Amino acid sequence: MSHALVLNASFEPLHIVTWQRAMQLLFQGKVEVVEESDQEIRTVRFTMKVPAVLRLLTYVPLNRKKEIVRFSRTNIFVRDNQKCQYCSHKFPKTQLTLDHVIPVVQGGAKSWENIVTACKPCNQRKGGRTPAQANMTLRGKPKRPAWLPSSSLSLGVSVAPDRWKLYLKLDRGNSSKNEPELGADSAFDLADDSD
Ligand SMILES: [Zn+2]
Repeated sequence: MSHALVLNASFEPLHIVTWQRAMQLLFQGKVEVVEESDQEIRTVRFTMKVPAVLRLLTYVPLNRKKEIVRFSRTNIFVRDNQKCQYCSHKFPKTQLTLDHVIPVVQGGAKSWENIVTACKPCNQRKGGRTPAQANMTLRGKPKRPAWLPSSSLSLGVSVAPDRWKLYLKLDRGNSSKNEPELGADSAFDLADDSD
């Protein structure tokens, strides 16, 4: 059977639980059902839909330190949905590079706000220039992510169910099945940056 996504009282995703645990939380009065799944539980006394998304009734303060998304090559690709931030095309990880928006030689930082996913041809074309100098446009302003869409993958669920996507802030045009797993990469592995 399925799993349920548990949200904080503030609607931030917290974790994924088994449907049994979801029912337990529900009967303990700790959560409310936000979305139901299509699956039903039948007992002698009642039939009910298995919850797909639950929300805690009491806010749980988060350990912010633990929550911070690791600054790594893979996580930058995940944040950018494996799309080159210049030509907007999606590529396999092996064909992607990291680009410093403002090149290091021009004072650019190694940070979430200054590193984006770029395909090899775009990175080459841009070279050691800023987007303006290279006459290239960024898809958007790069940001530090608060939450990665495929964190659900690292929790052992291979594809996030549709009913979770709104809460996980997934790009709705794309299934998460092609996204890389988190956790396998080493932190700060930014070595093959080409600028
Ligand atoms: Zn490109």
